[in-house]
Amino acid sequence: MELFEKKSVEEIKDLLDKAKKVVITAHLNPDGDALGSSLALYNYLKDKKECCVILPNNIPDTFKWMPGCNEILIYNHDENAAKVSEADMIFALDYNTSSRVDKMQKVLEDSPAVKVMIDHHPNPQREIFKYIFSDPEAAATCELLYLFFEACGFEVSNDSAICLFTGLTTDTGCFQFNCTGQRTFEVASKLAAMPIDRAEIIHHIYDSYSEGRMRLQGYVLSRKMVVFEKYHTAYIMLTKAEADKFDYRVGDTEGFVNLPLSIEHVKFSAFFMERDGIIRCSFRSKGGFKVNTIAERYFNGGGHDNAAGGKSFKPLEEVVKRFVSLLPKITKEIQDK
Ligand code: 5GP
Ligand code: MN
Repeated sequence: MELFEKKSVEEIKDLLDKAKKVVITAHLNPDGDALGSSLALYNYLKDKKECCVILPNNIPDTFKWMPGCNEILIYNHDENAAKVSEADMIFALDYNTSSRVDKMQKVLEDSPAVKVMIDHHPNPQREIFKYIFSDPEAAATCELLYLFFEACGFEVSNDSAICLFTGLTTDTGCFQFNCTGQRTFEVASKLAAMPIDRAEIIHHIYDSYSEGRMRLQGYVLSRKMVVFEKYHTAYIMLTKAEADKFDYRVGDTEGFVNLPLSIEHVKFSAFFMERDGIIRCSFRSKGGFKVNTIAERYFNGGGHDNAAGGKSFKPLEEVVKRFVSLLPKITKEIQDK
């Protein structure tokens, strides 16, 4: 069945027409796709509705240039929970379960608004979302949102196109990851036909690092990367104190987890770091080994087949020790894929 089937699309257009207040949400620790999809929709709706983007926590500096970014609200119960409760419609973009909005979860669940999910993570939570447009084959939520705009007959403005292109670029690692499909290029091609400056987008995302971030990357690769040839696995563990020595700012470690996968025999990579009092775990793989099952089974998380994450409330060293102890158990899974 077609993802954006006519009946649902017509219903949503009708609901949007009638809605007075619309809230757009995306996941904790927003990335380029979460921000790109939220802001693309926001830039379409902002002149037509009372509309806002509310995110669970901070936006990395790398993305603060995006059109509409300055108007994003960061969730704070006292300041903006009422917006969620009083909304007529809520869009959930780039996440598949309400726990991914962290402290906003209960307010989101309790809100009587009509909830619409557009997302590309496997196994969407059905209970609280009235409309679910979920396609794990999509490389990015921005890919799906473009198709949603098309299905609705909504015009994609230059500002929205910039945001959509950002999400496509970041979630595909500049169109290199396996998830990049024919349709991804088709959407990219339509965006590329618009008068947007793609070189400037790439410049903002990849050529605007701080000196500290570059030196931190060097430090991590030369001193912190542990490779287990036998298990085709590598991991990086970074303490808060180490990161702070390089003037760490939110987003600086984005992409570090991918680096070990450039080693020929490494098929599975992990990155562990303390953030906001908990240990954030990131997993990546190349080939058929599914890291979302590892994130789900052992690290309170989830994600895509080749890119997943999780968390732990235990001390960093303990989390990493546990990870290393898992390797002999899953070595066959890694090897066979
Ligand atoms: P990252 O490693 O970049 O933080 O996350 C990689 C992927 O895993 C993203 O698609 C993200 O949505 C998902 N992910 C990261 N952390 C979590 C988590 O705690 N729970 C779930 N369910 N998914 C996560
Ligand atoms: Mn995404």
